[in-house]
Amino acid sequence: MDSIPFLDLKRAWDFYGHEIETSVIRVLRKGIYLNGPETKDLEEELANFIGVRFAIGVSSGTEALYLILRALDLPLGSVILLPSFTFVATAEVVLRAGLKPVFVDIEEDSVNLDPFHLQETYRKCKKEGLKVSGVIAVSLFGIPAKLLEIFEFCKREGLFLIEDICQAFGSSYFGKKVGSFGIANATSFYPTKNLSACGDGGMVFTNDEGLAEKIRILKEHGQSKPYFYEYPGVNGRIDEIQCSILRVKFKYFEREKERRKILAERYEEALRDLLGKVQLLKIPQGGEPVFSIFSLRVTQREALRDYLEKNGIPTRIYYPLPLHLQPLYKKLGYKEGDLPKTEKLSREILSLPFFPYLKEEEVDYIVKKIKAFYGG
Ligand SMILES: *Cc1c(COP(=O)(O)O)cnc(C)c1O
Repeated sequence: MDSIPFLDLKRAWDFYGHEIETSVIRVLRKGIYLNGPETKDLEEELANFIGVRFAIGVSSGTEALYLILRALDLPLGSVILLPSFTFVATAEVVLRAGLKPVFVDIEEDSVNLDPFHLQETYRKCKKEGLKVSGVIAVSLFGIPAKLLEIFEFCKREGLFLIEDICQAFGSSYFGKKVGSFGIANATSFYPTKNLSACGDGGMVFTNDEGLAEKIRILKEHGQSKPYFYEYPGVNGRIDEIQCSILRVKFKYFEREKERRKILAERYEEALRDLLGKVQLLKIPQGGEPVFSIFSLRVTQREALRDYLEKNGIPTRIYYPLPLHLQPLYKKLGYKEGDLPKTEKLSREILSLPFFPYLKEEEVDYIVKKIKAFYGG
């Protein structure tokens, strides 16, 4: 077999490339490139899909998270609790908003925030006299975090819950879409995500009208009326071409979601035999994932990676060094051993080729080689 791509965006082109070309040319000819009808329609379509009242298109997932923190107007220096096992953007925006990230350990089998550790870390912060403002819950790889439990905890303690659903657009938890649990929630349209643009883009989802309005103002330089500025804002717009592309791709979202499901189940079915050597990630009860990344916990990871690489199978590690051990965040006082489950998972996690247009034969070949490596 030829070498298999980890993720090949070109393959989608055979299915709806011509439709994207048509819609892009339509926007180009119309001459409205920002804040136009494509943005408005996409916002409406996705707000309906997630099940919230408001959606605000922005320039990236990172900016979506940042704008939420800014719009909440949290006390400077107050604590945001979040996982360390996530993409750097989740923590970076906390610093940028003048807040203090405090990392919480995860459940190593479901990769997301552990509600128990969340409570424990919260208590520790209180004991140290720190003001805690909110929690960012990430649904990593497309696996829903335990959002009901986390929501209840936040409500009880008077904390804002913010969801980072950048890797989990379309996933749900007990029948409710991720992205509808927090006060405001962020997704990304980065090209490798579940619903993706041909460039950068993101969106905020919320039921809170005041927050929605404030985010709209902040993403336009803090302009509340033409040339009238109330807050220091950013240029955080999404553009019409990306929105038109996203609207085409959104029509195929359910079909791609189905393909993701079929391929993930095919991997899971075949790898179940390798118990002890390979562990599948655990979906919390009530969770319906839409995998963006397909990952396993494995033994002898580096040797397995080399072996697969030699057989034309690329793999990735999301994420090799957890955030609390990165030079930037270590300065906040973290050291090895502080988040044992996060650190253990970082040593075991391995991501396999995965995207809706991966072929069944390719999955079978990958599985065959993994089995051959473990002598199965
Ligand atoms: C991709 C991603 C982001 C950032 O999204 P961008 O659109 O690339 O800015 C944030 N958090 C997580 C978990 C992500 O995977």
